[in-house]
Amino acid sequence: MNVALKNPKSSVGTLDAIAEALLLPSGIDGVYARTAAFEDVVAGLTAFISRHREPDTEVLRFPPVMSRRQVEKSGYLNSFPHFLGCVCCLSGAETEIRGAVERFEAGQDWTPALSPADLVLSPAACYPVYPLVASRGEVPAQGLLFDVASDCFRHEPSKELDRLQSFRMREYVCVGTAQQVDEFRRRWMARAPDLAGQLGLSWRIDQASDPFFGRGGKLMAVNQVEQGLKFELLVPVRSAQQPTACMSFNCHRDHFGAAWNLRGAAGEVAHTGCVAFGIDRLALALFATHGIELADWPKAVRKALGM
Ligand code: ATP
Ligand code: ZN
Repeated sequence: MNVALKNPKSSVGTLDAIAEALLLPSGIDGVYARTAAFEDVVAGLTAFISRHREPDTEVLRFPPVMSRRQVEKSGYLNSFPHFLGCVCCLSGAETEIRGAVERFEAGQDWTPALSPADLVLSPAACYPVYPLVASRGEVPAQGLLFDVASDCFRHEPSKELDRLQSFRMREYVCVGTAQQVDEFRRRWMARAPDLAGQLGLSWRIDQASDPFFGRGGKLMAVNQVEQGLKFELLVPVRSAQQPTACMSFNCHRDHFGAAWNLRGAAGEVAHTGCVAFGIDRLALALFATHGIELADWPKAVRKALGM
């Protein structure tokens, strides 16, 4: 579905102006303090996405950290080692910990004393779902739907306001047969233009691939495109020529099913898929499209966001 942008409209909120008014620098690229106006829009988006939740969907909210073991077992380290952030702590005897602090106070590097904890920073909101499903036994015949969210971290520092290291992701996830997952993804891809339309955003849906690591990763990305496993809804944020992925529609086939031994009643390996909403990018897209002053936004958009 590689089509021209729908509802084209030139950006009215420049990113520099947005940065100055809404996202304050933290001293680290891709990490910002969010102002009240930005968070009001985030809250509106969150409620807007909730209103479109399908029936019989289980809601789970995850913390920004998750089990390192689970991320390893899910294959994240193999595919995206360059993105992963691992929690490190000072542990050991009091003298060792004090030694690290003393090195810091003496102006020396204290960080070699750190050791990895059992936690990583969640790279995507859906990763904790699959082990949870595995712990519950067989996947019911009608399949399972989840509504999940978490703060996510990816080590991709950038000066671009739409590429953050710490950002919020909301996802709907389907676990079931290949057909159930396919239908789930089709439903959301059919719904997405209406969602973007309600928000007054220009959009285009296009095929995409994940930024797999290294030379081997290029081949994986080509396969992903060939098999149509990932689509994105792109919205002009930086420019109309280089629109930004604000939602993604992903088919994992049996990747997580095999990793976690998720099985249906007949013993077949379950398939999974997810629809991800980049909450900070959607908020940014709204400000870039409608301007910095909420009062100036189209009435219908404010209504959709409950503002
Ligand atoms: P991109 O192609 O822009 O790198 P992606 O394909 O890696 O994104 P997904 O893994 O599909 O993104 O993540 C789901 C959604 O999370 C994306 O559609 C996007 O809206 C959001 N997202 C991903 N990476 C970032 C980031 N670095 N900063 C802000 N939002 C992000
Ligand atoms: Zn996902």
